Amino acid sequence: MRSIDLRSDTVTQPSKEMRAAMAAAEVGDDVLERDPTMVRLEGWVAELLGMEAALWVPSGCMGNLIALMLHLKRGDRFLAPAQAHVLGSELGTAAWLAGGMPEALAWEGGPGRPTPAQVTKAAGTPGPYYTLHTTLLCLENTHNFAGGTVTPREEHRALVAAAKAAKLAVHLDGARIWHAAAALGLPPSALTEGADTVQVCLSKGLGAPMGSLVCGSKPAVAEARRLRKMLGGGVRQGGVVAAAGLVALDYLPRIVEDHAKTRRLAEGMRAFGIAAPVPETNILLVPVPNAAAALAALEAVGVRALPVGSAVRFIPHRDVEMADIEEALRRIEPLAYLLRTA
Ligand SMILES: *Cc1c(COP(=O)(O)O)cnc(C)c1O
Repeated sequence: MRSIDLRSDTVTQPSKEMRAAMAAAEVGDDVLERDPTMVRLEGWVAELLGMEAALWVPSGCMGNLIALMLHLKRGDRFLAPAQAHVLGSELGTAAWLAGGMPEALAWEGGPGRPTPAQVTKAAGTPGPYYTLHTTLLCLENTHNFAGGTVTPREEHRALVAAAKAAKLAVHLDGARIWHAAAALGLPPSALTEGADTVQVCLSKGLGAPMGSLVCGSKPAVAEARRLRKMLGGGVRQGGVVAAAGLVALDYLPRIVEDHAKTRRLAEGMRAFGIAAPVPETNILLVPVPNAAAALAALEAVGVRALPVGSAVRFIPHRDVEMADIEEALRRIEPLAYLLRTA
């Protein structure tokens, strides 16, 4: 039985067209005098995000870490929405390597979203010499573990304004900013306003085999380049992977198709009495009574998913068709009782 892999939007295979572009890429030594294809990709992504400059890095985790290293001094506190990727899913590098004291903000503004008032309160006011310094707000749009939830433009602006009023720098973990923008029908640059740095992934949903970009001002990106080298992330003929990234960006107008597949999956499950929410983007988090039992049963019928807390996470992507979603629903129906909470 063919497996339908909905574990993540990172399981996509590089397309034929992407492999051809990789093979044909014009390259140079990116650590020495820059690789021309890298330069093209970085320029294009900076423009898409409305940022001054961008730097390619091998992974989103390295991109976030570099941004945190740019913003934090040892012992500085940073704020992030509860269950943010930088808090729980990056092996503690925010503290271990960037020296930050993490502070999670509850989701008082909606799933995955703190309110501006929470930011103001958590930032505190300058106190006596022995008080902790809070210097950074880290946002995440879409918020992965809240279920791919979107922070709308006005809310993003208000959060940034609260951070700036409290003299905090702002980093946006925009691994899936493309999805937030597509869901709102806005260009991605509409959701980065005021952010000092932004991290975006090419390997999530767009189909690149690897690669993220850290974006910011020209001086910030020049320093980011030093930090990337320090972390072992300088690559030589990087154009080979940058070429894949350029092809991956062609998928942007089609992201809405993945959102439609995700909505269909949720709707089909609801018809089976499963408490699947209406997904905002490409991530569907289904609360289940026993995630291990549900995942084992799904695996046995060739539908692959991942646990997130007590929920099962499904992420439709470019390598599954709407017909695969219908097939997944046919396979899920007989074991729907394992996915029902009541
Ligand atoms: C996946 C992800 C990252 C990290 O990306 P990697 O390329 O896996 O290191 C960062 N932030 C969010 C929100 C993510 O979903």
